[in-house]
Amino acid sequence: MMFEPDAESMPAEQLAGLQQERLRVLVDRLLAADGVQAERLRSAGVTSGGGVGLSDLPQLPTTEKKDLWDAYPLRMLAVDRSEVVALHGSSGTGGRPTMVGYTRSDLRLWARMCARALAAAGAGPGSLIHNAYGYGLFTGGLGIHQGAIELGATVVPASGGMTPRQVTLIRDLQPDVLTCTPSYAIRLGEALADAGLRPGAGLALRAGVFGAEPWSKQLRARIEELLGLRALDIYGLSEVIGPGVAAECAEAADGLHVNEDHFLVEAVDPVTAKPVPDGTQGELVFSTLTREAGPLLRYRTGDIAALRRGPCPCGRTLVKMSQVTGRRDDMLVIRGVNIYPSEVERVLLEHASLSPDYLLVVDERAAQSQLLALCEYAPDGSGPDGAGRDGAETDGAYGVGPAEADLELRLREVLGVRVGVRVLPGGTLPRTEVGKAVRVVRWAGGEPPVPGLS
Ligand SMILES: [Zn+2]
Repeated sequence: MMFEPDAESMPAEQLAGLQQERLRVLVDRLLAADGVQAERLRSAGVTSGGGVGLSDLPQLPTTEKKDLWDAYPLRMLAVDRSEVVALHGSSGTGGRPTMVGYTRSDLRLWARMCARALAAAGAGPGSLIHNAYGYGLFTGGLGIHQGAIELGATVVPASGGMTPRQVTLIRDLQPDVLTCTPSYAIRLGEALADAGLRPGAGLALRAGVFGAEPWSKQLRARIEELLGLRALDIYGLSEVIGPGVAAECAEAADGLHVNEDHFLVEAVDPVTAKPVPDGTQGELVFSTLTREAGPLLRYRTGDIAALRRGPCPCGRTLVKMSQVTGRRDDMLVIRGVNIYPSEVERVLLEHASLSPDYLLVVDERAAQSQLLALCEYAPDGSGPDGAGRDGAETDGAYGVGPAEADLELRLREVLGVRVGVRVLPGGTLPRTEVGKAVRVVRWAGGEPPVPGLS
């Protein structure tokens, strides 16, 4: 089902015409706002949107997160403050978040984009949506909330955390759609299982729309097994609008359709910023074609994914992006090899005896950094020597067992570099209650990131 079929299945030529027209409006809007983006456009010789074509895009200037920080709090606004009806923010630096403004029309656009994502997952009027994204300054909770209302569904604003209350709400209200981060879906699934609620026994969930952090196919399989639903990815970032920039369709579930009638997307080489061909991993770059308060030309997201065009069984003509495999900033350089944490996750989660929780430690105690992957046995205690949830290995000496040797071999094969593996008793690693899971820590000496590690 499509929420806006005319837009979502528009023929390619017509879509390009619409994007062209909107790109010119965007350039004119930026020039009129007379901020840092106008300055860069003029330096690049662009003084009007009129002559700008889609093929000129790679030559146009880019923006990045630093521009938003430099303009903190509201100097990036392209409209008068009195036209801004909402402000949101994302994680920032030095205690300053990145602030993003929305006009009434921006909020309506955002709601429609989230409604498209929910409809693509099979939700519609009458669906009951349990929304466990955090409500607040971050865009996840309120974005999905407004999208659900726009769609005509019933939304339960559960927000993040207070897991026992969430279990009660799910048991009593029987939602068919769950929305939250993938790591919280696991946490919630475990809590539901502990309360005796399982697929086919007390759970009516059919679909889940999960995003705000990178996740692998293996994690998707774990979530689907635990909750008995179809797990679909949603993508967005507050600088651009929030969740709903792109979403997976239930029909194919192999990549996210980008709402490119509003968010023009490119993939570029993260180092040279040159466009990469379709099918090649690159950094995603978005131009907001219709945003009023916070228009952005060629915003470099730092998110790494590949674009793919072609027909989809769902009938959408919108370009697909692969799941985000990592962030430009998350890229670890271990002995000269570039590694994204998600590549390690994929190997770890292939191992059935392990729980989906893991922590990567960049051990910087020696001159050459080493990567150490900490994981846990699954709660069913299927690890060797009974080292599961009630494992005996709690005295701090973690030996290298068969699972470790196996995983180290496999990681070396896949990544081309040595990664140390330690499998810990269940429950040792820190769990996430709200927001994004911490997957990578650096250890330069002093207190180990997990007690007993040496
Ligand atoms: Zn599709």
